[in-house]
Amino acid sequence: MEENLARCARCSVPAGERLCQTEDGRAPDFCPTRNSGPIIEASLVEMKKDPSVMVFARQASIQEAEGYANKGLGYARLKPIKPRIQETIEFAQRMNYSRLGLVFCIGLRREAKVVERLLTVAGFDVVSAMCKLGRTDKKVIGIDNDQQICPGGFEAMCNPVAQAFVLNDAKTEFNILLGLCVGHDSLFLKYAEAMCTVLAAKDRLLGHNPLAAIYTLDSYYRSLK
Ligand code: SF4
Repeated sequence: MEENLARCARCSVPAGERLCQTEDGRAPDFCPTRNSGPIIEASLVEMKKDPSVMVFARQASIQEAEGYANKGLGYARLKPIKPRIQETIEFAQRMNYSRLGLVFCIGLRREAKVVERLLTVAGFDVVSAMCKLGRTDKKVIGIDNDQQICPGGFEAMCNPVAQAFVLNDAKTEFNILLGLCVGHDSLFLKYAEAMCTVLAAKDRLLGHNPLAAIYTLDSYYRSLK
């Protein structure tokens, strides 16, 4: 029903008092905890169908909780203690993965070298694939010369489907995305067979910190509003 569409981002109930967090919690009319019982139940049925999904969900939840110090001292005292790269490594270890996939953008090739090294030192066999692999002409996907980054000559397209196929062929157990472009990441996620996580989201302007524009929306990025 259109009027019941979930709008959690618009929820004004304070954290800790929300129906999705506590049985006596409050909720707006558009609350999916209140309105989408059968869907929530279906999600649990779906997860329980596949034991590997249950293991994945359980380990992800343990990893989440172990990202904090001061547990037991209350919400206000919780303190984050691990950067995402550490969490990624720890999670892959928890899952007993041995072969990881790393997909990256040519613009982050230096970062990819460092990440690959960290993962290798941690004991993983890392299969990596860069966006331009295959050197396929952008013309293949209907890009005109004047639509290229550098008009005037050959330009290789990013091929996230090929990135996914290369990792699928290597039977990677868990894939890490490092700086794929908007849309290219979507295609990779569509075609990758293994579970995936994003280490960094591409933001050319903001040093791969897209939230910088959100944090400064009332000042330097006000023109976006
Ligand atoms: S599930 Fe309900 S209570 Fe929780 S954030 Fe969404 S609208 Fe708010």
